[in-house]
Amino acid sequence: MAALNLARLIAASADMIATHADELTALDQAIGDGDHGLNMKRGFEAVRSEAEVFSAKPLPDALQAIGTKLVMTVGGASGPLFGTLFMALGKEISAEPDRAGLTAAFGKAIEAVAARGKSQVGQKTMLDVLKPVHDALAQGKTAMEIADVADAAARATIPMKALRGRASFLGDRSIGHMDAGARSTALLVRAIVETIGESA
Ligand code: ADP
Ligand code: MG
Repeated sequence: MAALNLARLIAASADMIATHADELTALDQAIGDGDHGLNMKRGFEAVRSEAEVFSAKPLPDALQAIGTKLVMTVGGASGPLFGTLFMALGKEISAEPDRAGLTAAFGKAIEAVAARGKSQVGQKTMLDVLKPVHDALAQGKTAMEIADVADAAARATIPMKALRGRASFLGDRSIGHMDAGARSTALLVRAIVETIGESA
């Protein structure tokens, strides 16, 4: 795997969230409180504003610092969960991971999110994208294939009934809408794998 260019990954992620903030807001308005677009944009712009500081650190430290920044700036339910994802990834990953190392660390990070959210796959949350992406990574899929898996997984939350988070308060009325956190996760996955894929 090519060396990760963290500054480019941060810029691509922040751009992707900024471009889709209104869409994320609309999704969260349908079955939540409508703050997900702003929450994510605030968090990723905060990370972008310190991109040079993060990029100067070894990868594990950088990911942990990014996770901490996301916890402090995203807010809502998703802030601590995305923060946990990046912090746990930083704790588990090596400074120059190969694909197997990245896959193993990502698996542990997903477990940390599930523990933090007391959630599991099938409950219409970000985990419903994270898990299939991990499977695709483990299966050796290409960057484009992984991005497509993430998009399909986000769409697959549409017929699900929400069992965690605000949308769960709606019960059956949560059916028929895409989960906002699943969508933002798929967007981040696309930004990240396309950036890594370009430099591979
Ligand atoms: P809030 O729900 O507090 O307004 P956001 O709108 O920023 O926070 O984020 C909502 C997203 O967070 C949901 O779409 C879902 O994907 C994710 N989420 C919420 N609760 C959980 C949980 N317990 N486990 C995993 N993901 C969750
Ligand atoms: Mg919300």
